[in-house]
Amino acid sequence: MTHPNGRQDVLHIAIVGSGPSGFYAAEALLRSGRNVQVDMIERLPTPFGLVRSGVAPDHPKLKQSTLVFDRISRQEGFNFLGNVMVGRDVSLVELQSTHHAVILACGAHSDRRMGIPGEDLEGSHTATAFVGWYNGHPDFRDRVFDFTQEVAVIVGHGNVAADVCRILAKPVDELRSTDISDHAFHALSESRLREIYLVGRRGPAQAKFTPKELRELGEIEGTVARLDAQECHVGAQCEVELASPTNTFAAKNVELFRSYILNESSGASRTIRFRFCLRPVALHGNGRVEAMTLERNALEGPAFAQVARPTGACEVLSCGLVFRSIGYRSEAIEGAPFDPQRGVVPNDRGRVLDDSHHVPGLYVTGWQKRGPSGIIGTNRADSIETVEALLSDFAAASGSPRPGATALRDLLEGRGIRIVGLEDWQKIDAAETERGKATGKPREKFTRIDEMLSVL
Ligand code: NAP
Repeated sequence: MTHPNGRQDVLHIAIVGSGPSGFYAAEALLRSGRNVQVDMIERLPTPFGLVRSGVAPDHPKLKQSTLVFDRISRQEGFNFLGNVMVGRDVSLVELQSTHHAVILACGAHSDRRMGIPGEDLEGSHTATAFVGWYNGHPDFRDRVFDFTQEVAVIVGHGNVAADVCRILAKPVDELRSTDISDHAFHALSESRLREIYLVGRRGPAQAKFTPKELRELGEIEGTVARLDAQECHVGAQCEVELASPTNTFAAKNVELFRSYILNESSGASRTIRFRFCLRPVALHGNGRVEAMTLERNALEGPAFAQVARPTGACEVLSCGLVFRSIGYRSEAIEGAPFDPQRGVVPNDRGRVLDDSHHVPGLYVTGWQKRGPSGIIGTNRADSIETVEALLSDFAAASGSPRPGATALRDLLEGRGIRIVGLEDWQKIDAAETERGKATGKPREKFTRIDEMLSVL
């Protein structure tokens, strides 16, 4: 709404989630030229989502995006409200009453299931849990991984599987000066793992690793990356895929896989074995995982749409640890529409849809909007699209004035919630950095919420 004096009413926007998509949405709003007040709500006392708790500790460059987020958070018109969970401390309906619009940017912190017998046996884990554990996420801090086992199987051929494999395979000395959590460093330093299988349901041409990540798996000190020549079968339709100029990653991957055929295991303390066209059918064991049955798949269908069809031929692989890394998944938020099939919030370019109708004032961005794909930067364009939709909906008028953060704070404080503001986070950040100095690490993360709050 524009006043006669030309001043626009402030548009109060709540962003739920403080990962990359949330920060890029905040940036787009603050750059828009509109008079906006952005209130970012985060359930943990710490911001940055998967950049803090997902990016592998030995990939510090990827974490530099936090410098950009940090700059965004210092802009006028930005508020951080950490340690506040939507659905527990405040409802979505309440947020919709204090703010003109709500942008859901909660990412995908759950995981897809294989849906096979034995999946929940002890020793069978999700990549989500393992990644969260080594990165010190409070939800996963107390998970236990049995590194007295010698054989691990990772299901999935994506970059998360590559991260899991690298952290399992790397000599711990190479992790010592990273921001890996102390508990994970100590547990991994006792690891007796010797064989790590990376099992994909399709072939080498369909693996979703980026070549950089795949190459790194072949460069780990003391570890050899291997595959058998017959595993590296590339059929006629795969050749069509590999010849496409838009599919250069796959061509590079296949070249790398072929180079691993020649590798010798002798002398290596660990071996990474790539297996293709295998579908996990069941996990077995007496109280804990001891083996996995895999069924051979054949690829069928045209290039770029080849699907894996089971052939009935099975093999049993002995293993003591299993990590399923077959994709993250968003979770439903009470009061917001959700598509359980796709694991996303249904939307049209960021406008949340309920039965094909836009829910006024409700938007979504990032993995919750499009599913778990792309790199950190992919979320920038995604969030710009959502913010453009939002701003065009509010182009003519803001509608009735909303109280924004003032009312939200009153409501939360009335409920006894300790809101962690930006300055509080900066104190936690400084304390973590200080703790890291003693051991030459960029930071030693607090892994429990009460530890974080005790700094304040
Ligand atoms: P992803 O790249 O989608 O890979 C998932 C893998 O799981 C694929 O090999 C997929 O096979 C397989 N899969 C899916 N459902 C399955 C099932 N039911 N049974 C067996 N296998 C199944 O997912 P992601 O590895 O979780 O990564 C998520 C996103 O984060 C990606 O965009 C990734 O590039 C990004 N990421 C980037 C980095 C980095 O830049 N360093 C690090 C981590 C993650 P199909 O191909 O047959 O579906």
